[in-house]
Amino acid sequence: VRTTDAVWLAPGEPQEIQSDLVSRFHEEYGRPASGTWFAPGRANLNGEHIDFHAGRCLPMALAHGTYVAAAPREDGLLRLRTLDASLDDGVTTVFADQIGLRAEPGAEDALKDGAAGHWSQYVHGALWALRELGTSQPDFQVSEGFGADILVVSTLPIGGGLSSSAALECASILAFVALGTPLGQQNPLDDLNAALTREHRKQLAAACVRAEVEVVGAGTGGLDQTAAMRARAGKVLSLDCRDFSVQPLDIGCILRGYRLIAVDTGQAHRLADGQFSDRRADAEAAAQLLGFERLRDALPEKPRKADVLHVLEEFDRLAEQLESVGGRDIGACRRRLRHALTEMVRSEKLHHLLSGEAYGVRHITSTVGDILTAGHMSMRDDAEVSFTVADLVVETALAQGAEGARLIGGGFGGSVLVLIAPAGLPRLTAALERISRNIRLIDVAPSAAAHAL
Ligand code: ADP
Repeated sequence: VRTTDAVWLAPGEPQEIQSDLVSRFHEEYGRPASGTWFAPGRANLNGEHIDFHAGRCLPMALAHGTYVAAAPREDGLLRLRTLDASLDDGVTTVFADQIGLRAEPGAEDALKDGAAGHWSQYVHGALWALRELGTSQPDFQVSEGFGADILVVSTLPIGGGLSSSAALECASILAFVALGTPLGQQNPLDDLNAALTREHRKQLAAACVRAEVEVVGAGTGGLDQTAAMRARAGKVLSLDCRDFSVQPLDIGCILRGYRLIAVDTGQAHRLADGQFSDRRADAEAAAQLLGFERLRDALPEKPRKADVLHVLEEFDRLAEQLESVGGRDIGACRRRLRHALTEMVRSEKLHHLLSGEAYGVRHITSTVGDILTAGHMSMRDDAEVSFTVADLVVETALAQGAEGARLIGGGFGGSVLVLIAPAGLPRLTAALERISRNIRLIDVAPSAAAHAL
C-alpha cells in the first residue's frame, strides 16, 4: 500500500503564514501592515441546501482558512491583492465610499476594476455591509473616508466547497472592524477577540451574508458565514436557521477512534453560474405550492421520516392537476422538496445524537456514518448536485471501510466528507490517488472561528 504526504493539504503554521504575509504586504504597499485577521473554512456534517429553508445545519470550522493583512488609508481608497496564483491580477483599486452604488444605473463607472464576478467583490461587499450595519449599530460605525490596503492568502482550496468565499468575507470584515470602527479603535489588535461578543459575531455573520447576496449576487443562506464567524474549537455548531441560534455540540463521541476527512475532488464548482439558484428555485416553488414561505415550517418541531412522507403526499395531492409548479418541472420540484425535508430530518437526528439525548445508542459512529451516506444519496438523486468524481470518492471510501461519506457544500464540484478509522486511511489515500491526481485530503479538526492574529 502506497501513501504519499503530497495528497494531504496541511493548514500550515499560522505564525509562519502571518509573518510571510506581512512581509509580502510591506513589499507590495511599501508600508507595514497594521495587523492580520483569519477566518476558517468549514465542513458541514449535514444540512446542505437547507439554510435558506430555515433548516438546521451542523458545520465545523476547519484549521484551514483565509488570512488578510491590512493597513488603513486616509484617502478613501480600497486597494486589494490576493496571493492566490489563479486569481491574482495585481492590485485592484476602488473608492471605498462608492462601493454599493453598483446596482444604481450609471454608477458602474465609479468602480475602477471592480467587475462583477471578480474576487474583489467579496471584500467590497464586506466593507459595504459593515457600513450598512454601522448605521444602526454604533460599535460598527465605519469612520468617514475610511480606506485600506489589503493582502489576502488562503490555505483552503478555492471553489472546493469548503467556503473559501465566506472565509474571505469574514476575515475582511474583521480587518475593517479593527481598522475602521469604534470597536476596533477601543480594542487594538488581539484585544478585539475578547471584545467581540456573541451578538457582535452574529451581526457580523449577517453582514457577510448581505455582502454575498447584495454585492456579489450569490444565493447564500448564511450557513457558511455563521460557521466562519461563530464556530467553536472541538465542536460541531448546531445552527438553527429559523433564528440563527447556535448550540455548540461535542463531537468527541463520533471521533473517538475515528477521523473526519474532507476529500477535495479537485473539481472546482461555480456557485454563481445558475445551477445552484436553479435548485433553490425548484425547492422554493414546492414550498409555495404547499403554502409555506420556509420549508422548515412544513415539518413539526422534532421532524421524523413519517412527517416527510406526509408532506410529500400533500405535495402530490396539490400538484395532481398541474402541469408545472410556478413554471418549473413538477418532478424536479418534488425531488428538491424531498432532499430538503429528509436533510432536515437527518440534521435533527444528528443534533439529537450529538447532544447526548440519544443515550443508549451503542454504535454512534456507524449510525452517524449511515446518516452521512444517506445524505450523499439525497444530494445525488434528489438535490441532483453531485458529480462523477464525488460519487466515485464516496463509493471508494465506503469500499475501503469508511463508516460514511457524503458530498458537502453546494455541489457541482467541491469536497466529500469521509468518516473513517485511521487504520483505513493508507488504503483509502492509495485508492483515491488512482481516481485523480488532483484529489487532496484535509483533516477536519473542528477549529475556532474568525479572529485577529
Ligand atoms: P468555495 O466553495 O471555495 O467558497 P466559491 O465559488 O463560493 O467556492 O468561492 C470561491 C471564490 O471566492 C473565488 O472564485 C474568489 O472569487 C473568492 N476567493 C476565495 N478565496 C480567495 C482568495 N484567497 N483570494 C481571492 N479570492 C478568493
